Amino acid sequence: MLQVQRFVFNDFQENTYVIWDESGECAIIDPGCFRENERLALSNFITERGLKPVLLLNTHCHIDHVLGNEYVMGKYALPLHLHQDEIQTYNDTRKWTAMFGIAPLTVPEHTVFLTVGETITFGNTSLKILFTPGHSIASLSFFEAESLQLFAGDVLFKQSIGRTDLHGGNLSTLLSSIKNQLLVLPDATKVYAGHNEPTTIGEERIQNPFLRNL
Ligand SMILES: [Zn+2]
Repeated sequence: MLQVQRFVFNDFQENTYVIWDESGECAIIDPGCFRENERLALSNFITERGLKPVLLLNTHCHIDHVLGNEYVMGKYALPLHLHQDEIQTYNDTRKWTAMFGIAPLTVPEHTVFLTVGETITFGNTSLKILFTPGHSIASLSFFEAESLQLFAGDVLFKQSIGRTDLHGGNLSTLLSSIKNQLLVLPDATKVYAGHNEPTTIGEERIQNPFLRNL
């Protein structure tokens, strides 16, 4: 059974997830660890649980979701997995790094492009790759069908949806991603978003004011 640990990192209060199963292998989704203590919190957790990181995934490449990519890649010798069209989102982080006075982030050399509709596996776990653009140009969501757990990046939040005013954002695209890719999942599906507390598809179907007219 897939287990999930949420970390809240960096000034944007971004959710980073470590997910693992009984094999002991784990995946890291959207490492936003930026400060030394955040990086230690992530790697100490992995060490204490005896987990073996084998997969690094980005739902999308806004700055708050990629600040820890290089740390994780270096520490665990992992390539980065993302959608090819998120490269432009990655390059767009330069605006933000300049604003914060930190070194520019470059797309890592060891990057693997994910194919929409396929599954990616680690340990005994399969994650279906869902294409959910609208918050960014090519946001992905990762769905684990056995335990009904969804990692949705900044597409769908508890009682909210992702912002659409950043590069590549589009409200009607976002709403149609939510309608056609996420609301078709069972009500019991637990949604782990890029910010805030987890929710479920069923709760959002009823309570989310942005989804009333879908
Ligand atoms: Zn974002």
